[in-house]
Amino acid sequence: QFPFGRRLPCDIYWHGVSFHDNDIFSGQVNKFPGMTEMVRKITLSRAVRTMQDLFPLEYNFYPRSWILPEEFPLFVDEVRMMKDSDPSWKPTFIVKPDGGCQGDGIYLIKDPSDIRLTGSIQSRPAVVQEYICKPLLVDKLKFDIRLYVLLKSLEPLEIYIAKDGLSRFCTEPYQEPTLKNLHQVFMHLTNYSLNIHSGNFIHSDNVNTGSKRTFSSILCRLSSRGADVKKLWSDIISLVIKTIIALTPELKVYYQSDIPAGKPGPTCFQILGFDILLMKNLKPMLLEVNANPSMRIEHEQELSPGVFENVPSPVDEEVKVAVIRDTLRLVDPQKKKRKDTQLSYDYSHLTFTTAKSAGFHSPVLQVGMKDKQHKHHSLKLSLKLKFYLKLGLCQTSEHVPEASEELLGAGPVDRGDSDPPRSSEAGLPSLCLKQVFPKYAKQFNYLRLVDRVAALFIRFLGVKGTTKLGPTGFRTFIRNCKLSNSNFSMAAVDILYIDITRRWNSMGVDHKESGMCLQAFIEAFFCLAQKKYKSLPLHEQVASLIEFCEYRLAALDEKRLVCGRG
Ligand code: ADP
Repeated sequence: QFPFGRRLPCDIYWHGVSFHDNDIFSGQVNKFPGMTEMVRKITLSRAVRTMQDLFPLEYNFYPRSWILPEEFPLFVDEVRMMKDSDPSWKPTFIVKPDGGCQGDGIYLIKDPSDIRLTGSIQSRPAVVQEYICKPLLVDKLKFDIRLYVLLKSLEPLEIYIAKDGLSRFCTEPYQEPTLKNLHQVFMHLTNYSLNIHSGNFIHSDNVNTGSKRTFSSILCRLSSRGADVKKLWSDIISLVIKTIIALTPELKVYYQSDIPAGKPGPTCFQILGFDILLMKNLKPMLLEVNANPSMRIEHEQELSPGVFENVPSPVDEEVKVAVIRDTLRLVDPQKKKRKDTQLSYDYSHLTFTTAKSAGFHSPVLQVGMKDKQHKHHSLKLSLKLKFYLKLGLCQTSEHVPEASEELLGAGPVDRGDSDPPRSSEAGLPSLCLKQVFPKYAKQFNYLRLVDRVAALFIRFLGVKGTTKLGPTGFRTFIRNCKLSNSNFSMAAVDILYIDITRRWNSMGVDHKESGMCLQAFIEAFFCLAQKKYKSLPLHEQVASLIEFCEYRLAALDEKRLVCGRG
């Protein structure tokens, strides 16, 4: 609790719903600015679609989706075309209101004409999505997986995934959708908040049975049936990393707007809830991301009609306590301080020498350090005999890091995910949160193109605190990157800006500010890339234009630096 009137800043601020406090100047906040907006159904679908345009195969873990109402005609046309080309295709679609949760307002349809375009639904934007008709069943029931993911840092990107999650079961045996069963929510929707109201819901006191189980118990079942659970985990990890890669560009725009670079502000981290559905062939599909996943470890039990009591839920406790505990361990401010101290010294300059002096061995540690200003310092520290003895009189190279930590007061080294530092953590179980990024960065970095487009966008935003680019900023971008020529005049640049910006603003994305939002800039950027590098695939066109722009801007910066010096 944050006591009223507290003056001292906190190490960690744990907000209940979203990032909302602009009066925090230090410490760490458990929410990222803009995350709630980013994971809404429409925004998430847009961000994933941008990635699907660039990398269709890599992003086929998200069902084909259309945004309503503006893409209704497109939805109708595309479905008709697909049906024409494959008359045996008998799809089902799921309509989900934007910003809804707990299955609220969701319904299934067989044909685009069944969309309820009248009444309150029409005024409520929604996503319509291909329905996954063949989910994996356990005990004849459909279920989904809730996995907890810690986004520990945006820049540099650091992602952790919890080793265990929850599996939430439907309460009616599953049948593939037909006109007769479309409305049966207990058969088709796995939401806990819905199924709890079914007479068939089973609260269990262990983790392997009932309507809510641990994901690990499902993996055990699958493994005993001979399924390749290693491959499944690896697919889930790539789904999570790719989804976060799709979200980061816009998150960075929000971040710089709320916490401008160069000004005092907190850093952020956030626990996200990933909802994943397994298909019959074990392919994981992303359903949605929750910015504020429930961390309740109790459920309500009706003792007698109308009389409820909170009782502990062992399954929730097993999974969620570990997630919160390990999040706190990973963002531990004391550990961070130690790390910062370590980081300000460059270990690569560390040399260890021994010197013989008056009568006893006294090792001398010679440390070449780079401080934050990158000046070189040389420090000679004579180790006390006591410490020398403590080291066991060893001075071989493998002991250097440990010795230096203690010397620098750095404390134990962070041994990564499997072996947490001793001292304060002694007695705690090993971390349930496993680092997946940057650990697997090499495999995924090629997907981070839009991040670089966002970096260009942010550079030209100009006034700090905005999230939209004005016409002058766009013109400066074109001029500085030398993208205008006899075939593409500045008048054409203005037309491009106006056309795209107007269309995005008419979609009602965000009326608070005028100007070009990141998604509109990305569209304009793709357009320019296609124009400039005609015959390449889209992701190569975009990559080439990014490199071109970055090169131009680096040259410009260099020129300015030289002029400045001059
Ligand atoms: P909400 O935020 O309202 O829970 P979700 O997107 O999570 O919305 O959808 C609710 C439930 O509907 C999911 O838990 C899942 O059981 C089912 N569902 C959602 N999308 C699909 C889909 N494309 N195919 C099959 N089932 C789906």
